[in-house]
Amino acid sequence: MTEPDSGYEYGERQIEDMTKRELRPGQGRISGFISATLGVLSLLTVLCWLFPEQLTTPELREIYDIELLRILLKVSMWAAILFGLFSFVRYGQRRLGLTGIVSTVIAFALGGWTMEGRSVHPTEVFAGVDWLVLDFLGSGILFLAIEKLFPKYPDQAVLRPDFKLDLSYFVLNHLIVGFLLLVGNGFAPAAFAWAVNANVQEFMLSLPLAAQLVVLMLAADFVQYWVHRIFHEVGWLWPFHAVHHCAEHMDWLAGSRTHIVQTLCDRSLVMVPLFLLGPHPRALNLYVVVAAFQFVFIHANTRVPFGPLKYVFVTPQFHHWHHSKDDPAIDTNYAVHFPLWDVLFRSFHLPGDHWPKEYGTVSPLPDTMAGQFAYPFTKKLRKSAEPD
Ligand SMILES: [Zn+2]
Repeated sequence: MTEPDSGYEYGERQIEDMTKRELRPGQGRISGFISATLGVLSLLTVLCWLFPEQLTTPELREIYDIELLRILLKVSMWAAILFGLFSFVRYGQRRLGLTGIVSTVIAFALGGWTMEGRSVHPTEVFAGVDWLVLDFLGSGILFLAIEKLFPKYPDQAVLRPDFKLDLSYFVLNHLIVGFLLLVGNGFAPAAFAWAVNANVQEFMLSLPLAAQLVVLMLAADFVQYWVHRIFHEVGWLWPFHAVHHCAEHMDWLAGSRTHIVQTLCDRSLVMVPLFLLGPHPRALNLYVVVAAFQFVFIHANTRVPFGPLKYVFVTPQFHHWHHSKDDPAIDTNYAVHFPLWDVLFRSFHLPGDHWPKEYGTVSPLPDTMAGQFAYPFTKKLRKSAEPD
């Protein structure tokens, strides 16, 4: 276990001046961003309505309430126009205001909220545009609220450096959700059908739902711990994972930055214990929700006080240390649900109330998504030269 290093001087992180990036009342940028966001999301929603086979997720289609969506779309489109006009006419915010207005006008021209529903023929290949719209709104509202109520770095602007880059990763990861599910869910049954044990699955199903959830979290975390650690400690795998670590500002979007090879490995391998345990579908759904929340939460710019529970569950403080460049924290805190695995396998680092001084990789990576995706193939690097 990595104990708090008595010889190491923990320091406070210094946030660069982000005054120009902050959204303050009286500039027209807040209304501009609201307009642009609602306008683009409305347009995407209308496109989903027009091309449901290609742009919507089969599992989500089953739960949509069309009449409710119609009302929300109507409100969103009118709000985009009004906020856009306010931002553009009152404050001259062309780019933001006009983005919102033009997107909404196109959405109107395509039929807006008046379109009729129709039967959908399922297709193998689809882009998860509806998932992108819903998760951006849901996660954005929830985590921005948490970050504003309990900020770790109050001076870090929402639109911090690399916001656009991480947003691009967020968009990509949602658009390819169909492909990720196809590969991720298909891998375990194809490769591990031989290991299914009826007694294990029977025992699992006999447990209460909450106990099934805890078993799933422990088992998934055990696998994730070792996959994660291998990505850190095997020299040629590190550059794939370094993409996730090169983020120098932690917030709700920072976790989205992952190399697609890493994403596919993680999704596929974490399904193995879930598949073998054979839980009740409700327990599995519950696990997916808890895991998705915890994953975004532990990257967020927040310091919710957890007291002693921070030694039981992985928290933002614990996972921020994993992203730290501070010496004693290199190659520590691999778990994403319970610190228990790091304690058992001697990679635990949680020095009291200290937080990291700096985030990111010791050696810088390219600053574009294309450059970062190419990085493992172009960079001839040895683990010894890249110690985190
Ligand atoms: Zn890592």
